[in-house]
Amino acid sequence: MFDQAKRKYLTRSGFEATRLKAVLFDMDGVLFDSMPNHARSWAQVCTEFGLAMTPEEAYLHEGRTGASTINILARRQWGRDATDEEIRRIYDEKCRLFNACPEAPRMPHAADVLARAKADGLTIVLVTGSGQHSLLDRLEHNYPGYFHRDLMVTSFDVRHGKPDPEPYLMGLQRAGVQPWEALVVENAPLGVRSGVAAGVFTVAVNTGPIPPKVLADEGADLVLPSMAALDAAWDELHATLV
Ligand code: MG
Repeated sequence: MFDQAKRKYLTRSGFEATRLKAVLFDMDGVLFDSMPNHARSWAQVCTEFGLAMTPEEAYLHEGRTGASTINILARRQWGRDATDEEIRRIYDEKCRLFNACPEAPRMPHAADVLARAKADGLTIVLVTGSGQHSLLDRLEHNYPGYFHRDLMVTSFDVRHGKPDPEPYLMGLQRAGVQPWEALVVENAPLGVRSGVAAGVFTVAVNTGPIPPKVLADEGADLVLPSMAALDAAWDELHATLV
């Protein structure tokens, strides 16, 4: 069932074979159902600071660093980059609003996918554009034993956030694996672009309101409708890529 996706991946990447050793998980919208909170917080803070953005648009910026998102909006609305001070104030306020939201639940079936990956002996890496301490701290509480500090890439670690390949390239480096030895699990268009550009087989799990075509157009090697679907497909996908 996934042979065709694998063939297309090998063709686009130029690699000869896959040999799955590690899974690189995005966090928001993959491990936590936190995107509704992010989208609402972004829309509210942008309105407060005179930068127009709807919650729907926030989904399309998902994965960018806060500073990068703010600068895109500032250039569009103000015709200039935001100052460091403006970025700090806007992002601090965004984090304050986000932290005041009801706690985002675990994404349904994410724990099952993690358990399968671990049972298959794969190294589990977190690659997130988030710099929100609250969510990172929640990882260990919600998914105990799966994530380790030295196998995490956050916005604090990279110079260029998604859609640049740097976060996923750094994730590969942390895991000590090559692109053909890994799998990316992403929900956001820009995250998919980052994983694809890093040369990794990239599964898009469409957990938000985005049309699946947007994820396919970013080059996703596989588009699935949910983490439940990835859970159900796991054994076959693992067998295809191992
Ligand atoms: Mg995400």
